[in-house]
Amino acid sequence: MTVATIGLGIMANPANAAVKLCFNYYSTFTDAGIGEDYHTSSSASSRTARGLWVKVTQNGTTKFEDYTDLNGCTGSLSQLNTGSISYKAYASAKVSRGNKIWLNDDASGTRGYHSGTKTISSTGTTNITFTPSSNYRNQFDILAAASYAVYRNSGAKSDKLYRIRSNTTSSSGSHFKTSGHNGNPTVYMYSGHSNKKFVIVHEVGHMLTYFNKGGRWENDCGFKSTSCPAAAGAHSMASKENNSCAASEGFAHFYAAATYNNASQDDCKMHYYKNEFGNDSSPIVDCETSNGAFVTKYVENSCVGSPTGYSTELDYMRSFWDVLTDGTNNPCVNDIVTWGSNANWGKSNATTRLNSTASGTIGNKWPTARDNNGLN
Ligand SMILES: [Zn+2]
Repeated sequence: MTVATIGLGIMANPANAAVKLCFNYYSTFTDAGIGEDYHTSSSASSRTARGLWVKVTQNGTTKFEDYTDLNGCTGSLSQLNTGSISYKAYASAKVSRGNKIWLNDDASGTRGYHSGTKTISSTGTTNITFTPSSNYRNQFDILAAASYAVYRNSGAKSDKLYRIRSNTTSSSGSHFKTSGHNGNPTVYMYSGHSNKKFVIVHEVGHMLTYFNKGGRWENDCGFKSTSCPAAAGAHSMASKENNSCAASEGFAHFYAAATYNNASQDDCKMHYYKNEFGNDSSPIVDCETSNGAFVTKYVENSCVGSPTGYSTELDYMRSFWDVLTDGTNNPCVNDIVTWGSNANWGKSNATTRLNSTASGTIGNKWPTARDNNGLN
């Protein structure tokens, strides 16, 4: 009799508490609250610690040492007693399909952590909410954005390791490298981007396409346009680019937008960190339709010269968003990633290669999405 057994157990050891611990931690994203649907507060907010790595000890004995589940919870820990426990959470998480996010400081190699204590007073669920220690706050901010992105859209792959180095000393700023730290695919985050969720998830998007394809999407960003120059660096949202650059960068923007916008609605907003036109230090880009200087069919409408083989990240981002959301019976983000990988384009034939591999529901939606956004 199950009931009798439980009753006897409680009588024999009244201090024993079958407790499930559920973790949350505070993260801050200063580029939030611009009209997107998820994680919309730009103030420090407590969010579910999905898949967070945690070690729990009591009276010097390890009681749990593993990733939590996707709700940030341990299983029921019947070996815990009421009273004080200690926990140590590390800046790592395991989310959908066993994919892991792993943070290290780029200079010291340190993986950030947060230690705390909690008093367990009863059976059932005990919630533990912490503010990561200031030394590693940036790593937990990056972890919160990256783990949420891969939790929502895994790139249709399992058991991949998303290595992210915080506070990068690289002059390239935030970027993805296929053979980064110790030759492994690595995202490097510039310290000033640690609390910019759209930038973090953009870089995660590059890594996700790499894992999906088993190699980098062709990304020749070497073209320089005089009519539509890049705002900063080699490329930007509205610079005229080889369409391989526009497609891969546009996808990374789309992945960030799709992480924070509800795909069952057409409307879509993202915060772009570059000052594209020199008159706005923090542009908000509408990923569904024309807004301000971010007009639709940008290459056709705003740049000179033949558009054949060229495009902008903006036009591609909106095309992918339209494939995801326009009409009914839509594909999912992972379908779009796999389609991009299968297209396997070169420097300037991204659109024609995407044409030839668009099938099923993507094949139904792509021509309209492509033409409405002026891709060629
Ligand atoms: Zn990029």
